[in-house]
Order: sequence, then C-alpha cells, then structure tokens
Amino acid sequence: MTNAELIDRLIEEAAHALDWRGNCATSGRLPVFNLWGPVMYLTPDGEVVIDHEDDGPARLAEPAERDFALARAAEQYPELAYLKPPKPPNSATCSLCCGRGRVAVSQWAIVPWQDGQEPRSFVYCPKCNSLGWTVTG
Ligand SMILES: [Zn+2]
Repeated sequence: MTNAELIDRLIEEAAHALDWRGNCATSGRLPVFNLWGPVMYLTPDGEVVIDHEDDGPARLAEPAERDFALARAAEQYPELAYLKPPKPPNSATCSLCCGRGRVAVSQWAIVPWQDGQEPRSFVYCPKCNSLGWTVTG
C-alpha cells in the first residue's frame, strides 16, 4: 500500500468519524488538527496544508507548523506514526516541556508539569512544536 493509498483510506475513515473530523474530511485531505477555526490537513502527497483560516484559499504549512501537524497526525492515526519528525543527533530534550511535548497551564500561565499528576489543562509545547526536542545547532 502506498502512502497515498493509506492516506486515502484514512480520509475515508475520518469522514465517518463522530468527532470534528467528520465535518472536515472532504476534498481529498486528511484532517489532523483543528485550531478552533483553521484546520491542518495532510494531503495524499504528504503535504501539510492549513485551510479555513480566513476566507482565502488553503496554504502550505510553514516548517514549524508542519512539524506540529505531523506530530498530531502520528498521534491521531497510529498508522502514520512514521511521519513524526525523527530526533536528529544535534538536538537536545526541550527545556520547556522536558520532552513531553506538552506543558501544563494554570491560570493562563505555563507551569512545570508535576510528575505523576495529570494537569487539568495543557497546551502543546510552543518551544519545540510538541516534538519534545529542539535542534541545538
Ligand atoms: Zn517542548
């Protein structure tokens, strides 16, 4: 099965999903993340596009947005786990999220993640685009 066939099949499945993806899985793109308005999609060619931002047409994701979207795709669709950007040798564990890819939020501030405690709310780490590592140089 090629990537495109796999993604086409996942699009088909997402179209029947009962969550937000059911409304977004149209026009041959796989919805990977909903930014409360704009939606990130993976195309069968492996491109990440962002649509529904304004009234304008979909645009290609910036590199940082692409990293984030591929990490979400790997989470949402286990068969796409291989798309998650691999940690390069010249990288270090992210100092903000300690490699978790998420940071806890309390009263609108980012706070350290307490071990063994699921925070009530979190955001995907803005420093490493949720990958858990940053390139050191
Ligand atoms: Zn981080």
